[in-house]
Amino acid sequence: MILITNNSKRDDGRAYDEIRPLKIEAGVLERADGSAYLEVGGNKVLVAVYGPRESYIRRLLKPNTGVIRCRYNMAPFSVDDRKRPGPDRRSTEISKITAEALRPALMLEGFPRSMVDIFIEIIEAEGGTRCAGITAASVALADAGIPMKDLVVGCAAGKVNDEIVLDLSEKEDKEGQADVPIAMMPRTEEITLLQSDGDLSEEEFGKALDLAMEGCRQVNKVQIEALKTRYAQDAGSDS
Ligand code: UDP
Repeated sequence: MILITNNSKRDDGRAYDEIRPLKIEAGVLERADGSAYLEVGGNKVLVAVYGPRESYIRRLLKPNTGVIRCRYNMAPFSVDDRKRPGPDRRSTEISKITAEALRPALMLEGFPRSMVDIFIEIIEAEGGTRCAGITAASVALADAGIPMKDLVVGCAAGKVNDEIVLDLSEKEDKEGQADVPIAMMPRTEEITLLQSDGDLSEEEFGKALDLAMEGCRQVNKVQIEALKTRYAQDAGSDS
């Protein structure tokens, strides 16, 4: 299978180190405490954040800090073959790793016995939805006013036709040789998620990690712009 049609470009015309077109908007839902909408390539992702708030699930609460809960969900119409509604192994795993990727950035000590709920809805999927969900969720958390050390950004790199490439499309993910999704807090470059699927040499893995980190830095700029636009709107409506 030939995915890359010339020496420098990929199937969709991108350079090896180029992310797909990315758009983020903060504060898109009225009822949620925080929200964000993200498009990257063919992915469309909506995130709603509620809290910190009381929860009736007392066994999950902690006396000295707030806690987060995350639900990643793919709409049945989000993929070519209808996705069976409801949780499955994959969505349970992604919900768990997303909460773990976001948690180090959150400062919830001031909210004991409370819960922050993060709902990630994949409306359309085209590869890289876990990273897109993390990126959008951290914007929604900031929009909710949750104290954070930094934003968290998700981005993947991988290996396609023996080249290390950034931000794999669905086709590249399915037909390529490896996928390395990461999440990072850009200020300290602390990695909060690192997964690897496929075969990579040590050198290739290092290259993929470096490239994914560079992708995170690029995506972070778009997150910051989305939040600045949101705050400018708020400031405008207050005056
Ligand atoms: N996908 C699909 N049906 C499914 C799950 C995934 O068509 O039930 C597609 C979707 O486009 C997704 C891609 O396969 O983005 C890659 O899925 P993966 O599990 O690698 O997670 P992701 O890359 O989305 O984080």
